[in-house]
Amino acid sequence: MEVIRCGTKKRIISSSSCLSPRTPLVHSSQRKSTQQRRNKITRRSLSSDSASELLANDQSQVTVPSGHLPPLSIMPAPILLRSLMITQILASPRLLSACMPLMKIMSSSKSFMLNPDRNPLLHTLMRKFLYDHFCAGENGKEVEQAVSQMRALGYKGVILGYAKEVEPSLLAEAANGSSTIDPIIEDWRVGNMRTLEMISDSDFLAIKFTGAGPAVIEALKSGAPMPEQMAAAMKEICDAAAARDTRLWIDAENQKYQATIDAWTVELMRTYNSRTDGKVPIYNTYQTYLKHTPTVILEHLKLASKEGWGLGLKLVRGAYIASEPRHLIHDTKEDTDAAFDACTDALLAQRFPSFDSAETGAPFPPVELFLATHNEDSVKKACQTQHRRVLASQPLTHLGYGQLQGMADDISCELLQMCRDDPTCSTERKVAMQESLRNALKPNAFKYSSWGTVQECMQYLLRRAVENQGAIGRTKQWAAAFRGELWRRMTTLGR
Ligand SMILES: Cc1cc2nc3c(=O)[nH]c(=O)nc-3n(C[C@H](O)[C@H](O)[C@H](O)COP(=O)(O)OP(=O)(O)OC[C@H]3O[C@@H](n4cnc5c(N)ncnc54)[C@H](O)[C@@H]3O)c2cc1C
Repeated sequence: MEVIRCGTKKRIISSSSCLSPRTPLVHSSQRKSTQQRRNKITRRSLSSDSASELLANDQSQVTVPSGHLPPLSIMPAPILLRSLMITQILASPRLLSACMPLMKIMSSSKSFMLNPDRNPLLHTLMRKFLYDHFCAGENGKEVEQAVSQMRALGYKGVILGYAKEVEPSLLAEAANGSSTIDPIIEDWRVGNMRTLEMISDSDFLAIKFTGAGPAVIEALKSGAPMPEQMAAAMKEICDAAAARDTRLWIDAENQKYQATIDAWTVELMRTYNSRTDGKVPIYNTYQTYLKHTPTVILEHLKLASKEGWGLGLKLVRGAYIASEPRHLIHDTKEDTDAAFDACTDALLAQRFPSFDSAETGAPFPPVELFLATHNEDSVKKACQTQHRRVLASQPLTHLGYGQLQGMADDISCELLQMCRDDPTCSTERKVAMQESLRNALKPNAFKYSSWGTVQECMQYLLRRAVENQGAIGRTKQWAAAFRGELWRRMTTLGR
């Protein structure tokens, strides 16, 4: 095992650095035969001499050959410079606090001076200094460009959301109730359909139910079924996503809505995740800071197993700690970290505590897992677990990783680096390793991004600023990493 030091930070990197993308995803709604087939395929593809040789060398911390460049070396120079400048601002609590009131005003101002969509100078400044760092673009063409740039860097795809929040004029119209059609749900439907048109089959559409306005929020709060218009909108979105082979995830929100979000999403998974091609196009989000989340996951695993559909899980720690009843949340950050890692481990091992196949009369259901996190330890642990399973020819859970655009680039770049062919990996070793094995070892790295005009994205940008305020230490670390990379390039003449 080789643990290398890179810059100031200790890096433990996976042996997959010399290998290529996408864990083969093998499952179908015919669970029993699929599970057997999956085991067979996984075993067949990995039972080569190379796998046993790698397994013999397997360590919990797999390595990179020395001479490997640091992860941020992947970043194009202009993006590195912009990232350095912006994280430097975000790492300064004083500057951030000074900017936030102005950003709040700009998010709703109609005046020429303060609306960035009307004032060309303000628009240019906002784009250069903030928007371009966190957002994908203002229209389809810009988003397409940003997404193809991300793909060129090695990302598997993007998760795209429409940043626009409910307009006050629509709120008034909805409250007035003069029309049989809720204008906010309609606006939300159109926004999501436009977003869907901008992405392709390896991407995700991010859906937030509360964005559909007061009628939907009321139904979420009271545990009612989806309002008819909302159900029709979701059907249209899910059908269109299924036709394009695009996955979508439903965001987790405040606890007062979450039980209903879970119920609505299970209903969608029941319909769309039981396709015979074995795809799992719809993911629900699970917040591991909540003490009861493992119970919810277990319940959904049992339902999926019994009813024959695949469970898509996006795992997050949870973003609403400041507003949730504290007793629902783990007592310490360490407990939340442990819960996140334990859920990840169990889902990768396809053996969730208290899940009993005899009880459901069916094996562990097809599962796809997505880790949406900026926590380096969790990402590394998951990579190492998945690698051990690949090398030991154990059944694999399809696994993706995602960070927000403009955040945690060191982690994202480290994942991308694992996807690239290692120049120091010998040709014999590459040949010895079957392609399926090489593919299985590569992580699926994604970036989450939002699109919309500068003013439409202001609320999203404000949330990013608040998030940075709560994690200044980490932002400072990111800024230091960018400075280190810039210094490395200057002293090695750009190599
Ligand atoms: C792509 C992406 C999508 C996301 N989607 C959602 C979503 O749909 N819904 C959602 O709620 N969040 C979502 N988040 C945000 C996420 O839940 C976290 O708030 C954020 O990512 C920070 O957590 P972390 O895992 O990156 O790691 P860290 O920064 O290591 O963890 C911070 C988190 O730990 C937890 N925590 C902090 N202090 C304590 C404490 N004292 N006790 C217990 N727990 C504590 C909180 O959850 C806090 O957010 C998303 C994040 C990403 C990157």
